[in-house]
Amino acid sequence: MFRLLQGVWGFIFGGLTWFAIPFTLATTMGLAYLGMSSAQGAPLLTEEDVNKGLAAPLVAQKLLGTSGEYAMLFLILMAVMSTGSAEVIAVSSILIYDVFQMYIMPFRTNLKEGQCILCLKSMRASLLQQNQQLCSCPDVKKCEDCRLDDIARAKSKSVMKPHYTCSVHGDFKEYQEYLLNYKNWAIVICTFFSVPLCLFCWAVDLNLAWTYYFTGILIASSVVPIALSIMWARATAAGMVSGIIGGCACGMVSWLYYASTYPGGLSAKTFVKNTGEELPMLTGNIIAIGVGAIGCIVVTYCTRWKMTDAEVEAEWEKTRDIDNPLSPWLEKYKGEMQLGDTENLIDRPPLELVIRKFRTAKLTAYIAAMLFTLLFVVIWPGSMLSIDILDITGFNAWTTLSRMWAFVACAFITIVPMYQEIKAIVKQFKQNKEDKKTRKEG
Ligand SMILES: [Zn+2]
Ligand SMILES: [Zn+2]
Repeated sequence: MFRLLQGVWGFIFGGLTWFAIPFTLATTMGLAYLGMSSAQGAPLLTEEDVNKGLAAPLVAQKLLGTSGEYAMLFLILMAVMSTGSAEVIAVSSILIYDVFQMYIMPFRTNLKEGQCILCLKSMRASLLQQNQQLCSCPDVKKCEDCRLDDIARAKSKSVMKPHYTCSVHGDFKEYQEYLLNYKNWAIVICTFFSVPLCLFCWAVDLNLAWTYYFTGILIASSVVPIALSIMWARATAAGMVSGIIGGCACGMVSWLYYASTYPGGLSAKTFVKNTGEELPMLTGNIIAIGVGAIGCIVVTYCTRWKMTDAEVEAEWEKTRDIDNPLSPWLEKYKGEMQLGDTENLIDRPPLELVIRKFRTAKLTAYIAAMLFTLLFVVIWPGSMLSIDILDITGFNAWTTLSRMWAFVACAFITIVPMYQEIKAIVKQFKQNKEDKKTRKEG
């Protein structure tokens, strides 16, 4: 129960911590820029430079001197590096594990629904036909041959480790090692590919704000279909695809149409300016996300109207089949679901038990999502609308809140991971000691 809830709270706290960055950075840097501009009697930067995001570095430089310049440089470097590396790894993983492994060179080309990827026997009694047997592959942690393999490979000092000899897991382990190797190459290639991409964006003088809003029109239609594909048993592939493509197309059309009504229309000279206006962008984004949701739901109902309970359960079984036999999810959640010792891969708990055990985490996620959406989208902006100009107390409260948020988030994100890391190290240390003891005795 513990880890599931931890995951949910992790996402919630992560979101709240991240919010400090736009909130506080915009408040402090933005206000300082406005204050300095008004003290000087004229804006410090041209509109174009402000759009390029130069206000914050300028403020840091003017107020803090050289240390401000360095602080800004480190801030940007760290943001770019962490985002860049995460994106590169994500793209490589998708290429290798979701495209290459799934469609180009799968481990088993003739794998059918509900079959064990190791032995190709069925993992569910309901799918059995005559004279067929259920999969009896052992858990990799309890596999004797795998243990011998591990010892042999640990002893080997050569670069070329001996092949896996386990008749059940050996081939799949080797396949996974190949995939990991391919993934590492994909990371290197993607990293180099990002250089010409950046040069291209720089050469065409890409407008960052425009790109940011435009990305929404391009991908917002997939938000609801992706969520539904995970949470809604009825969702069909046709519904997903039509929602995503239809939403994107409708968003594009409405955005371009709205932009064309501005003076100059969509001519080459005014294209970026008119299409970058707030209202066309807002319309495009909302229509993309809305049509994506409605299209997905309507087409899903058209393609699958009737659904019995048995079909719903079979659909959920497909989700439960997404698994890696080398580290099955059963192993991970065994403690939380209070399952007894399991010997084989097929000893999965019934769906009903899983749903019951995940209930608290699910409810927490739903309630928190609703409350925070209400707070950040309705209550907070709504209450700001009632105040036209802040008085000095209100202004103080606002800036104090934004600073406090940043400091609390900073303390949280520094202390909590450190504490958890130390706890994990201590635990592993104890485990190692115990292993040594048992080995000596044995
Ligand atoms: Zn099997
Ligand atoms: Zn094995």
